[in-house]
Amino acid sequence: MTYVVVENCIKCKYMDCVEVCPVDCFYEGENMLVIHPDECIDCGVCEPECPAEAIKPDSEPGLDKWLKLNADMAKGWPNITVKRDPPPDAKEFDGKPGKFDAFFSENPGEGD
Ligand code: SF4
Ligand code: SF4
Repeated sequence: MTYVVVENCIKCKYMDCVEVCPVDCFYEGENMLVIHPDECIDCGVCEPECPAEAIKPDSEPGLDKWLKLNADMAKGWPNITVKRDPPPDAKEFDGKPGKFDAFFSENPGEGD
C-alpha cells in the first residue's frame, strides 16, 4: 500500500504535506506533487495535512490512474522536502473539476 496525490493538488500545490513526511518521498512537478510509492511507508500523517484533500490511500477504489501517475512522475521529478509559498491563485483552483485535462504538466518543478 501507499498514499497517492490526486487531481485536486494540480495548481493548488500548498506543500504542507512535504513538511510532515518522515521519509521525504514527495516529488515536485511544475504544478503538482506526487508520492514515490516505493518510498512511502504508509504512515498516513500527510493525508490530514493537505488543505486540498488531495492525498488518498491507494486502498480507496478508483485510484489506479493516480497510482500510476505518482509512480511514473516520481522517477523523473526532483525531491521536495521544504514547503514554499503556494501559487498565488491556488484557492481559485481548489475543487475545480477537470484540472488534469486542462492543466496537468509533465514538466519537473524546482525541488530543493
Ligand atoms: S498539501 Fe496537498 S495540495 Fe498541497 S502539495 Fe501537498 S498534496 Fe498537493
Ligand atoms: S503516508 Fe507518510 S510516508 Fe507516505 S507520503 Fe504520506 S507522510 Fe510520507
